[in-house]
Amino acid sequence: MKDFNLAIIGLGGMGNWHRELITSGTWFAGTTTGNGGIDHLSVCGSYDILEERQQFARDKGLRVYASLEELLADPKVDIVLVAVPNDMHKSLVIKALEAGKNVVCEKPVALNSGEFQEMIDASKKAGKVFAVHQNRRWDEDFLTAKKIYDEKLLGEVFRIESRVHGSRGIPGDWRGMPEHGGGMLLDWGVHLLDQALLMIPGKVKKIYAGFTNITNELVEDGFTVELTFDNGLVFIVEVGTNNFINLPRWYILGRDGTAQIDNFAVEGTMVRITDWSKNDAVPIRTAAGLTKTMAPRTKDTIKQEPLPEVKSDIRDFYRNIIATILGREELKVSLDSVMRNMKLMEAIFKAAKEGKPVAFE
Ligand code: NAD
Repeated sequence: MKDFNLAIIGLGGMGNWHRELITSGTWFAGTTTGNGGIDHLSVCGSYDILEERQQFARDKGLRVYASLEELLADPKVDIVLVAVPNDMHKSLVIKALEAGKNVVCEKPVALNSGEFQEMIDASKKAGKVFAVHQNRRWDEDFLTAKKIYDEKLLGEVFRIESRVHGSRGIPGDWRGMPEHGGGMLLDWGVHLLDQALLMIPGKVKKIYAGFTNITNELVEDGFTVELTFDNGLVFIVEVGTNNFINLPRWYILGRDGTAQIDNFAVEGTMVRITDWSKNDAVPIRTAAGLTKTMAPRTKDTIKQEPLPEVKSDIRDFYRNIIATILGREELKVSLDSVMRNMKLMEAIFKAAKEGKPVAFE
């Protein structure tokens, strides 16, 4: 049995989310050992450059480190979580690895693949676990979409549209500033593209990308990306921050049906064909014409069904980190998969800048 202590660098919104997750009950106990012992994970302290966040940590009963150096020098700390703005990930991750700590870094792990490679090299040199918090791999809306695809519930899927829409623009913090690695591609794109790569096994052959600058001129406040995989499947990834009516989170088109997942709560439905033979349509009249093609299907040829149910537990992220430190598992979020996503985002920046499609893999 071992007690693992995690210290947080950057106790802002997401740093505190990790604190709450880890300190919520005794969920960690007994999940990783496999030889009868019980491992524990706790948050032992934090460091933030803002006094207000240092005070918040004190109020929550955490040890408050007066400096980064003090945190890194504490032998009690087994794992360092880096949850600061994007441009500071690289230097803090490398410092923590050089201090002999295992490190979990928030997404986007780095601003580009070159930075990320330096971090990987530092982890190899230190012989420590270095992991990236791609937590949206555990989102149930994603896992539902993946199940529909994997199990061919709609037959052969030819198009997937994955979107997140908000109407508040970019939050008025570092996310709007290029020097801090702001912009919606590195913020939300990193999640949705990671999901796309995880879901479709083939290579990405071609990328179209368009950025929007509706509320922010300095970084993209939204984007639409079209990925064509080598099996012909087209995957649309879209982030909007000026959308006062949301399109569905997922829209999946297969040869034998369509699925719509409305939101993160996985509301939605699937409609599947039951009888291809009855194809005669009664034309419908529109205000200025007639159409057979767009006439709705009759009920006897289709079946509307609920979405399949998929449950997940985000706490498995930390269970896997501990099991990896103990040498019992490999990282579930492999560094290779994160690198592929970093390179995809670089290609998307290029496609958007050049205003023309780019080849990828
Ligand atoms: P935030 O602005 O709420 O918090 C960042 C904190 O870091 C602040 O308290 C700030 O004072 C502190 N900080 C800045 N520089 C520091 C330094 N050098 N040393 C110590 N502390 C420092 O931002 P956030 O929303 O918590 O985002 C932090 C990271 O988490 C970003 O990389 C972001 O992309 C990521 N994030 C991930 C998810 C997710 O679902 N995985 C969600 C939100 C944010």
